[in-house]
Amino acid sequence: MKMRVGMGFDVHQLEEGKDFWLGGVKLVAEKGAVGHSDADVLIHAICDALLGAANLGDIGFHFSNTDARWKGMQSAFFLQEATRMITEKGWQIENIDCSLCLEKPKINPYIPAMKQVLAPLMEISEELISIKATTNERMGYVGREEGVNAYAVVLLRKD
Ligand code: MG
Repeated sequence: MKMRVGMGFDVHQLEEGKDFWLGGVKLVAEKGAVGHSDADVLIHAICDALLGAANLGDIGFHFSNTDARWKGMQSAFFLQEATRMITEKGWQIENIDCSLCLEKPKINPYIPAMKQVLAPLMEISEELISIKATTNERMGYVGREEGVNAYAVVLLRKD
């Protein structure tokens, strides 16, 4: 059996009046994330972790933010595609662990819904997905609510 670990990081700016998509769920918030697609940092970090573990490049390589095809795209599509790419190479997802870093809104109430959305996109059990959240203690761009960070670590298995 082979195992491979992958990590992903993503950041997007926050702006008033934008939709805030996070983990495939639309949050109720004053600010939302700015980006070429729906700017879902959590899904983007998971995609990079999956692709990284399988040594298949990164989300920007496969879905460039200068390509009009991906403008306004739901990130769910990118996650399904990244899952398809690793599956084609014979990899299975052992587990995923994520951390979100933002000041507002409180993420805990949304985590069950995020897992419910993400699990079927990767065709895995919700139990394999861990999502955690922290603030940045009011420091830096995250602390000033100018941006949101997401980190993901994935373990892949090939039997
Ligand atoms: Mg991104």
